[in-house]
Amino acid sequence: MTPLQYIQFWYHAVSNTRTTILFRPSIYAINFAELKDRYSIKALFFDYDDTLLPFKELSLPHRTMGLLKKLNKSGFKLVIVSNCVEKRKPLLVATFADLPVTIIGNAHKPSTYGFIEALKIVQVDANHACMIGDHASTDLGGAFAAGLQCGILVKSYSKLFGGNRSDIISRTVLQIESYLFRFMYERKVTVK
Ligand SMILES: [Mg+2]
Repeated sequence: MTPLQYIQFWYHAVSNTRTTILFRPSIYAINFAELKDRYSIKALFFDYDDTLLPFKELSLPHRTMGLLKKLNKSGFKLVIVSNCVEKRKPLLVATFADLPVTIIGNAHKPSTYGFIEALKIVQVDANHACMIGDHASTDLGGAFAAGLQCGILVKSYSKLFGGNRSDIISRTVLQIESYLFRFMYERKVTVK
């Protein structure tokens, strides 16, 4: 992430009033019907590691697969935008062999490339897509820069449910960022 992208993310977080930002403990605590009915969301963009499963774990939890199948049945287009290296992509493709999920690996979030590419593939406008991830500046920052108007910040999967964890420095940075992001956003909402 470049310093400019980082500054842009924080500027957007404190200045943009059009963006819907929600905070939920996990993907399992999201009211997806509300996203569809209230915010007209047609495509769900997910971060992979520590959002859908523990950090860099190989197999997807059954509960997550069940949720994704349910979301597909209810008409959402499903996308994974991950910074994971191309090496892991065959594993992701195999995991989702029976489910129509658009997988963008090596996305270099917060670069907008992966988001824009995915929007083209699923043929959904940016304002009808919602990004869900555990990392405020990369997941939501990239999505907002690509024009998405809805983002949901969840806690790290491994923190809530156990399993592989990222290193302590990454976890600490993420924790501070999430706290600050939420603090600034809620403050902005209160001031309005
Ligand atoms: Mg993540």
